[in-house]
Amino acid sequence: MADLGMEAVVMCDLWNRAKGEEMTVDGVVYQRGLHDTGKLQTYLHGYERLLKDLSERYGVRYKVRLEEEFLSMDGIPQVLQKVIRDRESLAKHLAPSTGSLAIRAGCPHCELVDKYGVNNRYSADGLEVSFHCRVHGRFSYSTQKDPQRFLFNCQLFNLILGYFYENAPYNWIEICGSDYAGFWQEQLLWRFLSKPAIIVYTHLVSDWLGNKVFKSLYQQKTAYDYLVKADQEYLLSYEVLGREGKDISLLWREIELWVDQPYRLFRDYTLHYLHLLFQQEKVLLGTIHTQASEPETE
Ligand SMILES: [Zn+2]
Repeated sequence: MADLGMEAVVMCDLWNRAKGEEMTVDGVVYQRGLHDTGKLQTYLHGYERLLKDLSERYGVRYKVRLEEEFLSMDGIPQVLQKVIRDRESLAKHLAPSTGSLAIRAGCPHCELVDKYGVNNRYSADGLEVSFHCRVHGRFSYSTQKDPQRFLFNCQLFNLILGYFYENAPYNWIEICGSDYAGFWQEQLLWRFLSKPAIIVYTHLVSDWLGNKVFKSLYQQKTAYDYLVKADQEYLLSYEVLGREGKDISLLWREIELWVDQPYRLFRDYTLHYLHLLFQQEKVLLGTIHTQASEPETE
């Protein structure tokens, strides 16, 4: 894009308010966010270093953005008000089992969240939402003054992103993991948008069972102890990779192949493949696919 005289910026959104514990009381499902801001800061450092290296290698600017920062942007209150006004029809698509849209906020005293927003009350103009905490009672947030206090489930957050960028004065390409392709995006998102974004899906990195690595890591910290025992922890941690002096440019060179050999975009990677890559096992890696020099026409 820079070659065409356009400015490109990569925005790395880190949606940092993942759910923690969950409980059901009197038929209402509550959850509490992970109190891991300190932990996030620990990993953010390596993440920033990686982005900085990539930015220098490819000459593209980047910015890291956390959830609260995105929700504090101009235009978000209007998006939230639109969602609240249309909540009944949206809920038929996005929350058919509960019939109530997952608009949430953590209690200011104990961070407890009514997961499906079943006890929410909305002002008629969509400006105020009153939430219910089973311990501390009602509390309210304004879509105008406190947009960063609002929380959503995945599909609703995705719609908020879609609505927000529909009105953006610049072009926007969304890049996300290919496990979101199909139903999540094309079915649940695009039906609501008049100007849908172009979405590019990234490869998933899977383990030997075919599971997405980072999902398994998030759910079970000991999921990959066998890799640690096999001296392959560097595949899971940027810090370990650096400490062991692995050459990460081997990975960048693999990714650069996607430009000239775009058929490589339509595949996933296993940890085993990445390990062979770092071992520079050229023979094995070269046998994936042989591309004809001319496109097949018959
Ligand atoms: Zn509370």
